[in-house]
Amino acid sequence: MRIGMGYDIHRLVEHRPLILAGVTIPSERGEDAHSDGDVLLHALIDALLGAIAQGDIGTHYPPSDPKWKNVSSRKLLRETLERVTAAGFKPGNIDCTVILEKPKLGPFRESIRASLQEDLQIPLDCISFKAKTKEKQDATGKDLAIEALATVLLLPL
Ligand SMILES: [Zn+2]
Repeated sequence: MRIGMGYDIHRLVEHRPLILAGVTIPSERGEDAHSDGDVLLHALIDALLGAIAQGDIGTHYPPSDPKWKNVSSRKLLRETLERVTAAGFKPGNIDCTVILEKPKLGPFRESIRASLQEDLQIPLDCISFKAKTKEKQDATGKDLAIEALATVLLLPL
């Protein structure tokens, strides 16, 4: 078995959608990024790459490459899952946390889990999504940024 962890942070800016696991969350601001800025999928991709010791998202999808401008992170996730398969593993379960002051993410938990399940192809009870705030502390707590953490367990094929 393999374990991997991932972390990501993006600034929140106006005129950008807030996207989490491919789900657009109604919000006045969204992730500032070269890609779609899907902070949750970026953390998850880093966790998957970490578990197979194949670098990080920046290694494979450098922001300097115009090819990745506004690219859907779900496409990057699916490509990463192909790398996981090629390394001889499959996802067992994942546990994710998004840290954001507002909006509240509770109402979107099930659509986010369903979207993750579509890409990961594992049972829903193996997909955990949690939402936290930073109690108004630091940049994320002051609503200037969004953070995500992800842990994955990989099982041999
Ligand atoms: Zn990112």
